[in-house]
Amino acid sequence: MPFKIIASQCTSCSACEPLCPNVAISEKAGSFVIEPAKCTECIGYFDEPQCVAACPVDNTCVVDTSLARYQAPA
Ligand code: SF4
Ligand code: SF4
Repeated sequence: MPFKIIASQCTSCSACEPLCPNVAISEKAGSFVIEPAKCTECIGYFDEPQCVAACPVDNTCVVDTSLARYQAPA
C-alpha cells in the first residue's frame, strides 16, 4: 500500500522530498504530499520507506490502507 502524509502533522521541512526514489513527494498548498500512483513503498530500492525514515515527526508518513498494495514487477 502506498504511503501518505498526514497533512496536519507535516511541518513542511522537505526532508522527505529528495529521498523518494520515485519522485512521488511534492509540495502542495504548504504541505507535502505523496502521489499514490508513484509510491512503491521503496520496494526494490531500500529496505525501509525513506520518507518514514527521514520524517522527524512520528506517524506522519503512514501507510494508506485504503489503497491497494504495490505489486513489484515479477
Ligand atoms: S515509501 Fe518510498 S516510494 Fe513511497 S513515498 Fe515514501 S520514499 Fe517515496
Ligand atoms: S519529512 Fe515529514 S514533516 Fe518533513 S516534509 Fe516530509 S512529511 Fe512533512
